[in-house]
Amino acid sequence: MFSLAPVEFRRSEIEGRGVFAKRAIAPGETIVPYAPKHARLAVDDPRATAAAATRLTVLAPDGFVLVPDEGSPGGWLCNHSCAPNATLVTSGTPRIRCLRPVARGEEITIFYGWVTENGEGSMPCRCGAETCRGTIDFTVTDEDAAAVRVVDGELATTDPRVREKLEEYAEFLHSIGQEHVQRAIATKLAHMRG
Ligand SMILES: [Zn+2]
Repeated sequence: MFSLAPVEFRRSEIEGRGVFAKRAIAPGETIVPYAPKHARLAVDDPRATAAAATRLTVLAPDGFVLVPDEGSPGGWLCNHSCAPNATLVTSGTPRIRCLRPVARGEEITIFYGWVTENGEGSMPCRCGAETCRGTIDFTVTDEDAAAVRVVDGELATTDPRVREKLEEYAEFLHSIGQEHVQRAIATKLAHMRG
C-alpha cells in the first residue's frame, strides 16, 4: 500500500523492530496510523480477549477492540520510552501524534501506560532515557488495593506507604504529560478490590 508516513520500520536498540523518522517531525503532526490493517472485534468477542495478550490492541471510541494485523507495519510497532516523543491518540482513527520535535533518524516512542497486578507481566524498560523508571509498567498489589477507597471518583488512602507510591506515580505521569494513566491505575485498583 502506498503511504506518505514520514517513517520507516527497522531494528531498534530498544527492542525488536521500531519506528524511525525519515525527516524532521513537528509537535502536533500525525506521524503514522496505529494499525493500517486491523480487525475490529466486539469487546466480549473471545478473539479480542485472546488478542489482548499481545498488548497491542486498542479500545476505539465506538467501543470496538482494534487488533493490529501484524503483517502490516504501523504505529503499533512504536517502542515504549519513559521520555516519549509521541503519543497514541485513540479518538477517531487511532494514530501516533508527535509530542516534541523529532529529528531525522530518531526513533518514535510512546508511553505504554501499562498497569500490572502484583508485578505479573512486569517488563524491564530499556528506553535509555535519563529518567528511565527501569520498568515499563506501573505495578499495584493486592495490599495496595486493600488500602484504597474511591471517594468522589478519586483514590483515597490513609496508608502512608500506599499514598507515597501513588503520589510518586502521579508525579512522574504529570512530568511527562501522561496523567490519563492514573485513571488506568485507579480502575485497576478498584477492579482488584472487587
Ligand atoms: Zn524507560
